[in-house]
Amino acid sequence: STTPKHSILNSLNNAQKRAVTSDAATVAILAGPGSGKTHTLTSRVVWLIDHVGYQPQDVVVATFTVKAAREMKERIGKALGNGREKKIILGTFHSIARRYLAAYGRHIGLSEKFNIADDNDSRAVITRIIKRLQLSLDPPMAKAWISKKKAKGMEPSPSSAPQAQKKQPVQQGQRDLEVCYQEYESHLERSNLLDYDDLLVRCVELLRKHPKCVSNIQTVLIDEYQDTNGVQYELMRLLAQKHQRITIVGDPDQSIYGWRSAEIKNLWRLLRDYPKTDEISLEENYRSSQAILDLSLLVIQQDEKRYQKVLKPVHDRGSRPVLRKLKNASTEAEWIVSEIRRALMMSGSMLTHNDVAILLRSASLSRHVESALGKAGIPYRMVGGFKFYERAEIKIVLDYLRVIHQPDNNDALGRIMNVPKRGIGEGTVKNLIEEAEKSSLSLFTLLVKHCRGDRAAKTRITKHAEQKISGDLIRMLNGTRKKMEEATESKSLGLVDLIEHVLTALNFQNYLQVSYPEDHEQRWANVQEFISLANDFVRDLDRAGEDALPEIEGLEQSKEEDVLAQFLANVSLASDAQKGEEGQESKPMVTISTIHAAKGLEWPIVFIPAVYNGSIPHMRSEDGDEERRLLYVAMTRAQSLLYLSYPVYSSPQASERTELSSFVSSVANAFAKKGPNFERSLMRHIAKVLQRELPSEQEIFKKIPNMSHTEDNLYPIDPDEAYEQTGQGYDPSRPKRPKLYNPVAISTGDG
Ligand code: ATP
Ligand code: MG
Repeated sequence: STTPKHSILNSLNNAQKRAVTSDAATVAILAGPGSGKTHTLTSRVVWLIDHVGYQPQDVVVATFTVKAAREMKERIGKALGNGREKKIILGTFHSIARRYLAAYGRHIGLSEKFNIADDNDSRAVITRIIKRLQLSLDPPMAKAWISKKKAKGMEPSPSSAPQAQKKQPVQQGQRDLEVCYQEYESHLERSNLLDYDDLLVRCVELLRKHPKCVSNIQTVLIDEYQDTNGVQYELMRLLAQKHQRITIVGDPDQSIYGWRSAEIKNLWRLLRDYPKTDEISLEENYRSSQAILDLSLLVIQQDEKRYQKVLKPVHDRGSRPVLRKLKNASTEAEWIVSEIRRALMMSGSMLTHNDVAILLRSASLSRHVESALGKAGIPYRMVGGFKFYERAEIKIVLDYLRVIHQPDNNDALGRIMNVPKRGIGEGTVKNLIEEAEKSSLSLFTLLVKHCRGDRAAKTRITKHAEQKISGDLIRMLNGTRKKMEEATESKSLGLVDLIEHVLTALNFQNYLQVSYPEDHEQRWANVQEFISLANDFVRDLDRAGEDALPEIEGLEQSKEEDVLAQFLANVSLASDAQKGEEGQESKPMVTISTIHAAKGLEWPIVFIPAVYNGSIPHMRSEDGDEERRLLYVAMTRAQSLLYLSYPVYSSPQASERTELSSFVSSVANAFAKKGPNFERSLMRHIAKVLQRELPSEQEIFKKIPNMSHTEDNLYPIDPDEAYEQTGQGYDPSRPKRPKLYNPVAISTGDG
């Protein structure tokens, strides 16, 4: 037969094989969740390199999250061997764009040492501008507007210059937005910062002006294509401009980034721009039990305008998803904890905390869940929108590193000027920043001028502060930078050494003790954790990191970035997805994640709390269909057990009861009201779906006697019932019904 052979094809069904081996220049795989799109894409990368013969450095792969990129790189690495995956240009659109800008940005007039302003940084800048210019704007709204404007690839219009304002018959609001935009842009430029949008927009500019940068690229592959926006589409097109070979995989039903200008339209645009596209659909769902898939489909099918696809489960029915109403958010969290413990206990060693995810519509919902897990001693990691790098003590260290890397970063310098205390008041800091902004100097330069006693400097600072700044801050920053420069010439000053040097120079532990007498130990522990993250980063760079972009003849590249630059970029780019989630991989932990950051991932057990109107659909969302897709994404992450829940009262202050999410209310009957009994047949089913070993009954029994039935919520009193009967909430201190849990029942289920 002529069917090509390669071990990578063994794990694939026929449609997947066809997609992996297609010779078409453009391949589009549109298919539902869990149908193996990502698996297929990864296999195609291996196929193209190993069988077709493309060089790894000539292949671009774009994924949606840092974590997805890392997983993909690992899998490809295993199949390819020899560490060849390092050469593949693989990452999120933002990180790919950043690499090109770092290497070739000078050709479009970028400074080599730009910093990245993450979403929080840009929001802070915008807020400051709005205050300073007294614009009547809402900062998040202004930020979204600016971001949209950039995403559409536009430049600030000259008519928005303040002096031209009067002639424009535009609304005040519109004018304020334009002014804010322009101020924001010049601020970024002065501080040598690129925000997330700039990374894409400037890279598009680079690839348009200098197509040579990507003249080596043979093919471009993109996962989660449904969430690419207009600029990303353009970037994809430009990366592939030489040979026009593109593979995309995606699912319109999982498009959840409309608020970031992702457009389903780009799908049809692709089919129009590349008319010979080979379209392939995958129709089997390998991820979830039939019960979970059926319910998820019932939810998404409420959207009548959607693009219909076939999706059939390969697994058996399994246990019915659970829907529970609890008294309030904390009883809801307690219920989740008790269900986690029950499931893990009943599964012997088959399931661990790693197998559990709690998916939230918004990060702000995490408080109760965190505290309940904390009380129960269940370890957890936070993914997406939860901010390890946002903690005050970490932010300070990061800001020092940023300024050492790039002294023109006014924002960072402004934040650390008086930390630790140097006797410079908040007002002075503000004045200095404003003075710098008005005189178009960097803050650093201004400070240096002050310290030289330059009389042109306007803002008064005390002699004491002046001495502190020049003798302490500036000297330390310059000294550290010098040390680094010397070090790179001989052998590099390690990232960890650098951080430790900064901490010592600042006497940081002491600073924490003085400033945070209550919890300085925890904060110092966080700093230690930060050092270990930096250490992991360096180790990963050596192991699976990126090789430099390949040399292109006749186009000069900036010399390789130092580790500090790469580390800072990594921190900034991780911010919308995976902050603080790295490290400690070995210890099993429950995952708390936003739904957005859970995209593409899967867990055996998934909880989705707060399923009420106002939470999902979210009250601030304008697109109900997108909210439904978001719930669909969350539900389809589950492999074996799925739990939805909502509290009767959203907060202690709430006077009105919540309503079950309208996405679920019409199918509420299809849910179970209680968690499963974990009878033997269910355990067997789970073992099969997860391809794990079924725990022996003895093993389960061994685990159970260690736990006291009255304390461990094997069957907590049904809070719904309790609430309905007595009007009172679930009270964890009340006696449980231990008799309901009958270990013998497990073995009879076996027959
Ligand atoms: P999503 O839309 O959520 O990103 P996806 O389509 O990318 O989902 P994958 O994550 O690639 O789906 O695959 C889902 C699960 O199914 C994974 O655990 C994967 O290993 C498994 N899988 C994919 N294809 C097959 C196959 N042919 N045989 C067995 N398992 C498969
Ligand atoms: Mg996927």
